[in-house]
Amino acid sequence: MAESIECRLDPNVGHSSYDPFDESLWGEYARMLLVATAACAGVHWSIRLANEPIAAVMVLANVLVVGAAVSDRMAGLPRLMFLSFFASGLSVVLATRPDATFWQDSLAMFSPWFTIGAFGILIFRDGLIATNAHTRPISLGQATVIIAVLISATYMIVIPGMGAVLESQRERSTSYTIEELTPLEVLRIRSAKLAVFAIFAYMGACIGSFLNVVAASTPRGESIVLRSSACPKCETPIRRVDNLPLISFLRLRGRCGACGVSIPIRYFTVEVVGLVIFSSLFLYELVTGAANVPGFQHYPFSGILWIILYTKWPVVGIYFFHCALFSSLLTIALMEQDKLRPPRWLALSLLAVSAILVVVSPNLLTVSLLDQTPLRWPASYPDWLDRAASSLVGGSMGWAIGHFAGSLRLRRRQSTTSLSLAYALVGIALGWQAVLTIAALWWIATWLLKRFGGRRERPSWLTATTILFAVAMLHHPAWRWSSNLLTF
Ligand SMILES: [Zn+2]
Repeated sequence: MAESIECRLDPNVGHSSYDPFDESLWGEYARMLLVATAACAGVHWSIRLANEPIAAVMVLANVLVVGAAVSDRMAGLPRLMFLSFFASGLSVVLATRPDATFWQDSLAMFSPWFTIGAFGILIFRDGLIATNAHTRPISLGQATVIIAVLISATYMIVIPGMGAVLESQRERSTSYTIEELTPLEVLRIRSAKLAVFAIFAYMGACIGSFLNVVAASTPRGESIVLRSSACPKCETPIRRVDNLPLISFLRLRGRCGACGVSIPIRYFTVEVVGLVIFSSLFLYELVTGAANVPGFQHYPFSGILWIILYTKWPVVGIYFFHCALFSSLLTIALMEQDKLRPPRWLALSLLAVSAILVVVSPNLLTVSLLDQTPLRWPASYPDWLDRAASSLVGGSMGWAIGHFAGSLRLRRRQSTTSLSLAYALVGIALGWQAVLTIAALWWIATWLLKRFGGRRERPSWLTATTILFAVAMLHHPAWRWSSNLLTF
């Protein structure tokens, strides 16, 4: 404890910590998203200026968001007071304006409520800065990165988005075929798609990096939040530039930057798996408008522009819910590989949070308890009760399958807690039908491994829950298909 305080006071050791945005990769990422969204929103509202002069308030608000997110000038108390004053004024204008439709914009990402939310984040950040004494000017490197992000966001997202808004205000049909575009426009659309895809994929790598820490810390009762990254051997704090998921491992060739001790390849692998979760679900679930989800009502359109920029929240919700499911399965598998049990609080909160989300949100579990059976609920039966029943039956069935799958375990003296928990989560999130299909695939995979894989050369990471994670990932794109296949 004394050591870490010393580090913070000495300006030569590591980074001095007063701006929460500079604290971690997450802060950097939050800043980037804030700037990109506010810049897009600013352009969006400036287009509407000609018809609605009141939009000038929104343009100014978004310029302020970008400025406050990027700049450290006046950070702390003075800016905190100014931002609070402006944001409360804006909220009053929003609340008292009679023509509600003006604020309910079709581009949900650019809605005024997002700008208010951005102010909330910035005020919170300035509050944290104000509680520390000193401020620090922005470095040249940071400024370069921010400007580069702004320029590429403008070129790749704002300009094509602007074109789409202009297109929607014309009288004729909004659907234009690809042949009408010039090669430059095609290139820009492609690069915008690539940029959005890259952001989601790298977000997955960041989550993977975080799961490494969760899997290593929580079973031992260590804190996830207060732990600072340091080399396990020489205990040198890891510099922010050396803590970037994937990139740093490749750049340092898997070694500690200070003492050269080699870092286990597992850290890198888990970051890659995190990237695979977020990017593969992005491709077959998010941009297709949840085409793989049985029972989900489809939109007549799909693609990055229609699903992400003109945000379809049910699809985004489903995407993040399933990303969270697979991330949880991965974390449980990692703990099992280390012969650790997930702590009770973690297991219970995973089960409780997924069950509550499924019951409360109408879109996360669209599979009815009676799907794939000849039975039907009476018309008066409420939907939420069906979702509750579906996740309860799915969860219990998953728990039981995980418990009794013991006879097929690859290692004799392994606890069934992790496997039961993982199966129960699958059941709650996807329903009992998917549990049965996935359990059948799991059984086949495990049997094949036992039959044809030699006992000696079986790697230590190949555990029951790891197989469940892999099988569930492979099943997910074919979920609707397998659901149709099994209908009685
Ligand atoms: Zn080291």
